[in-house]
Amino acid sequence: MADVEITFALAGINRRTSSKTSWGTRDAMKYAKRGGIDATDAANNLNIWVCEIGGGILGYAQFPGGKSATDGIVIGTDYFGENTAGGIYGDGRTATHEVGHWLNLRHIWGDGGCSVDDYVSDTPISDRPNYLCPGSIEHCGTTDMTMNYMDYVQDDCMYMFSVGQNDRMRTLFGNNGGRESFVP
Ligand SMILES: [Zn+2]
Repeated sequence: MADVEITFALAGINRRTSSKTSWGTRDAMKYAKRGGIDATDAANNLNIWVCEIGGGILGYAQFPGGKSATDGIVIGTDYFGENTAGGIYGDGRTATHEVGHWLNLRHIWGDGGCSVDDYVSDTPISDRPNYLCPGSIEHCGTTDMTMNYMDYVQDDCMYMFSVGQNDRMRTLFGNNGGRESFVP
């Protein structure tokens, strides 16, 4: 288990009223001209858009190296922060998971079968996400790290990044890393 020692300071909150009830996953919320709010200086700020996404989607993120206009994470309103409306996803861990993607982490099962890795050596191979709070469960011949933030379990059953994930995230802040611009 790793303490990644990455902290964020709130730079500001921008609000915009909208009658739109479902924003989808095609980045409309990230553009003023599409009814959303433009990103704020994405080289120096993690932009978090909070809105109804729809389709049962809790959130989504952009990996390092993408367009600055869409860089950041999107979180469904019910799943942002401590929110009883979010049910088993109401403890704010959707943001932890999406920030993990924003810092280059893949899902713990690598989004594929047993031969598809997440590029982190100390997370066991798996071929699927886990849901709810499964406890000890085996896939691909090893016990899944279901308590990892990059699985799909419910918020109060995920509580760790691994040391390998820590290294992968922190590499981004080194020379020529994908998030180097954030280093003061
Ligand atoms: Zn994810």
